[in-house]
Amino acid sequence: MSIDKVVLATQNPNKVRELRNLIGNIEVISRPDFIGEIEETGETILENALLKAQVVAKLTGLPALSDDTGLEVEYLNGEPGVKSARYAGEDSTDEDNVIKVLNLLSGVKERRARFFTAVVLSTPDGSEFVGQGWIEGRISEEMRGLNGFGYDAIFIPDEGDGRTFGEMTPDEKNSMSHRFKATLDLINQGAFR
Ligand code: IMP
Repeated sequence: MSIDKVVLATQNPNKVRELRNLIGNIEVISRPDFIGEIEETGETILENALLKAQVVAKLTGLPALSDDTGLEVEYLNGEPGVKSARYAGEDSTDEDNVIKVLNLLSGVKERRARFFTAVVLSTPDGSEFVGQGWIEGRISEEMRGLNGFGYDAIFIPDEGDGRTFGEMTPDEKNSMSHRFKATLDLINQGAFR
């Protein structure tokens, strides 16, 4: 059975936009309001992605696609990692989280980091595909650029030209990002066929 429509486990408009662009000719709808925010109780990014896709597939009866992402900073022993969304506290904003990372790295030369994304496609009949993607880079000294979201303004990908993701156009980021690679991994496994 080929899939022509997926429901996303997220309502984050930035992720919805990026995933829509990446998946191309499949209809992508964002998580319906009746489901509400799904608590991320997993201990890893992959566990959280699995949990979210399974819940949404079960509650909608449609193939569901989830994405869970973390920023792993070497000097911080892989943190924020699975805690990326709430690194500066329960109600923290993207800016609070970014400032916390910059403060912890203040004066630190070792700034290697990577983004990791796990995407899961879960179908109501119980089949499941897992895609994973990474991008290596480093944390900038200060915030740069107003594009993107989350930690984009402080992440400089090795594959780029020295700009942060926040300074790139959406197409530039999408051509190399962790989310792009994870989604490609999923597509290459035949998840949407
Ligand atoms: P989650 O995948 O929605 O749980 O996101 C975890 C954290 O990583 C949140 O703070 C997001 O803002 C951030 N994040 C997720 N994807 C990206 C990205 O592509 N670039 C920068 N930050 C991201």
